[in-house]
Amino acid sequence: MSKLFLSIDFEDFSHDLGRDLGLWITRPLRVKALTRAYEVINTFLTAHGNARATFFCTGIIAEHAPELVARIAQDGHEVACHYHFHDCIDLESTSLFEHNLQTALGHLRAASGQPVQGFRAPKFRINQQSPEQYQTLAKHVSYDSSFLTGTQQSAKAFAQRFRGLKIVPIYSGAVLPKTPALRLGGTYLKLFPTALTQRLITQAQGAGMVPHIYLHPYEFMSDASFALSREELAPLGAAKATYWLARQHQWHNVGNATLAGKLSRLIGAQGLGGRLDENLSKLAA
Ligand SMILES: [Zn+2]
Repeated sequence: MSKLFLSIDFEDFSHDLGRDLGLWITRPLRVKALTRAYEVINTFLTAHGNARATFFCTGIIAEHAPELVARIAQDGHEVACHYHFHDCIDLESTSLFEHNLQTALGHLRAASGQPVQGFRAPKFRINQQSPEQYQTLAKHVSYDSSFLTGTQQSAKAFAQRFRGLKIVPIYSGAVLPKTPALRLGGTYLKLFPTALTQRLITQAQGAGMVPHIYLHPYEFMSDASFALSREELAPLGAAKATYWLARQHQWHNVGNATLAGKLSRLIGAQGLGGRLDENLSKLAA
């Protein structure tokens, strides 16, 4: 059994959901909640062999809370890029994408003092059908981790299209025939029994992939510290506000308290793999 890799999409859920819903373009981040979440994650990593991990941070966190990004770097973790705002890149022009990417990288590099070589698209949404966005990405970073796939071979075929850019794929596959593909991370991991995630890990290994789980700060917290309140959602109207309160409950409450225990069981005796940038030879297609 190979070591399990863990990466964190380090974003302020409350800020990003409000932006997605058109409640604001931007507003002050919940820096205290982000700091607490980072401390919980770092404590978890320390308890598991003093492990290091990769944090894909949004550029706005580096812009508005540079001391937090500096701390992540000083603790020995990799600071990677999760775009500037948590926006859907596939809906943007290539020039806008490049502008936002450079803005994010500028803030992340300044705050972390690290080269910032890795990238993950928010919601895994970057245009994979036409090459322009990936060619742009290849100009600015060394690896991408936005590619969801069921086999290392397809990641390899994809990587060959973009010379100079390594692809660190995330496994996505069905555990039963005719059921939807599940990803190794996020909501699935906390909602499903450990045995199911273990099965996904085994499938990923069978498909030639190194198991790699991605998670978010809010999944480690059980106090709904990243949830939007009814008052914040009120401009959407009562019906939509109620809908989004219920959706948020699934992200911020259901299963969150069980996450650390499940993750510990999955990590098991083999331990955690470390930073992605230091293990590209194992991970990248
Ligand atoms: Zn994200």
